[in-house]
Amino acid sequence: MNILTDFRTHRPATLADAVNALAADGTLPLGAGTDLLPNLRRGLGHPAALVDLTGIDGLGVISTLADGSLRIGAGATLEAIAEHDAIRTTWPALAQAAESVAGPTHRAAATLGGNLCQDTRCTFYNQSEWWRSGNGYCLKYKGDKCHVIVKSDRCYATYHGDVAPALMVLDARAEIVGPAGKRTVPVAQLFRESGAEHLTLEKGELLAAIEVPPTGAWSAAYSKVRIRDAVDFPLAGVAAALQRDGDRIAGLRVAITGSNSAPLMVPVDALLGGNWDDAAAETLAQLVRKTSNVLRTTITGVKYRRRVLLAISRKVVDQLWEAR
Ligand SMILES: Cc1cc2nc3c(=O)[nH]c(=O)nc-3n(C[C@H](O)[C@H](O)[C@H](O)COP(=O)(O)OP(=O)(O)OC[C@H]3O[C@@H](n4cnc5c(N)ncnc54)[C@H](O)[C@@H]3O)c2cc1C
Ligand code: SF4
Repeated sequence: MNILTDFRTHRPATLADAVNALAADGTLPLGAGTDLLPNLRRGLGHPAALVDLTGIDGLGVISTLADGSLRIGAGATLEAIAEHDAIRTTWPALAQAAESVAGPTHRAAATLGGNLCQDTRCTFYNQSEWWRSGNGYCLKYKGDKCHVIVKSDRCYATYHGDVAPALMVLDARAEIVGPAGKRTVPVAQLFRESGAEHLTLEKGELLAAIEVPPTGAWSAAYSKVRIRDAVDFPLAGVAAALQRDGDRIAGLRVAITGSNSAPLMVPVDALLGGNWDDAAAETLAQLVRKTSNVLRTTITGVKYRRRVLLAISRKVVDQLWEAR
């Protein structure tokens, strides 16, 4: 059986030409291909054409704007983001997240757009064709049953992107272009909690850029735990942004990844105005536990991943609190 079926490639030089090319049925955008191509090689999808975005003029540009905000083209590599002086100094959480993706050779090619829009993952899905066919496939692709939640009518594959939670706590916005023109949304709104359809992009739309506002009084950090420190997806990842006013939490944002079908903001309003102490840390743990939905989608045990998620949530806020 031919797993990797033939497809055409387009390499447009402008965003407008990319949008035109994406209008055709069965056409997908392609960044560096580090997520998409391994999936296609496993028979996970049979596109008619790929639109290679890496030839688009200016899509990889990173610039700081006069109002103190940051604009990053969707084609910027993770290496360029991690090594960018202004990002390292002013938005270190973003540099930390980009730097923690996979390994160095990978980051030299992988794009911001591809990182944010990468597919969700599941141990019953990211497998070879013969493995999946031997197990009757699954709901996400070709099958009629979920192996993680057997009676479920939706897929619970997990989102493991590192960069999205950092952008979410930095209050970043995504610029999207498509057949209907341009629109911007908060980064959190790029995603929905559905393992088979986790992006809210409409047909023919693509991510063009990310805009990050000035940090003001916020400080932020990202932390992840993975099996192999040199190259691996997060078992759990947490980004937090804090405003400390003496012994008071004046502002707090927490976002998690590796736990659900989308990166999620944890509702932490209950902690505002109080001190950061053991009781507050326990409240945060409860809020993270309530927001997350860790399931049997990786080879690592559910209880362990949940404990890791709670532990790094506390660790990140501890670090930010001590640093102010
Ligand atoms: C061994 C290995 C380890 C990895 N480790 C990590 C990790 O630690 N953390 C992590 O976050 N990821 C990891 N990844 C996943 C992935 O490689 C990275 O997220 C990478 O940043 C994807 O970028 P890319 O440019 O290669 O995306 P591509 O593979 O080109 O694209 C990924 C998806 O995004 C879509 N897409 C690409 N650009 C756009 C755009 N501008 N607008 C809309 N859709 C778009 C594509 O259609 C595709 O569906 C790993 C992958 C491998 C193989
Ligand atoms: S969560 Fe269920 S439907 Fe989704 S990929 Fe895994 S086994 Fe398939």
